[in-house]
Amino acid sequence: MSSFLKIALKNLFKGPSTDKYPFGETFVPEKLRGKIRHNPKACMACHMCEHVCAGGAIRIKEAEDGSGIDFMVWHNSCAFCGLCEHYCPTGAIHLTNDYHTAHLQEEKYSYVESSFIKYEPCSCCAEPMIPLVPEFSEVVYGKQEDAKGLSKMCEKCRRKAVGKAIWKAGSLCDGTRS
Ligand code: SF4
Ligand code: SF4
Repeated sequence: MSSFLKIALKNLFKGPSTDKYPFGETFVPEKLRGKIRHNPKACMACHMCEHVCAGGAIRIKEAEDGSGIDFMVWHNSCAFCGLCEHYCPTGAIHLTNDYHTAHLQEEKYSYVESSFIKYEPCSCCAEPMIPLVPEFSEVVYGKQEDAKGLSKMCEKCRRKAVGKAIWKAGSLCDGTRS
């Protein structure tokens, strides 16, 4: 038997070497850049992701009833560049390895990842605001006890509280030189 025939017969009984996709699942690399996932609990609505978005796919806007922030990502416009994830200071936005992004033309405006970031009252003046994410406030204010309290204040009250604390401490400079 010729070697060609041998290989042909061997392959015939071995079955297909490729996956049955799209009739079944296929291998997906862990780091594949697929659909976006947003975690509203970790988001401070800082707009950084919207600012760097290469595809103009992100929209962050106050809800019509003023109760919080609507966060939207149009998968139709997303270029899967990963800039939003790279620049997000709190890790609130991620590219998953979900590659199921095919959709009908008429679905292009509804094919969105949307979430809602609810305002909370400032612990000082009760103005509606988005609390600082604890991990982020730790980076900014250190691990001191009042960092937790500061994260529940609006930007204005936080600024006042930090200013007062500096004033009480006496000086902005600790006198050391590098
Ligand atoms: S992956 Fe790139 S294009 Fe897609 S939402 Fe993020 S920044 Fe925008
Ligand atoms: S997802 Fe990240 S970068 Fe985008 S608004 Fe929220 S905290 Fe800022």
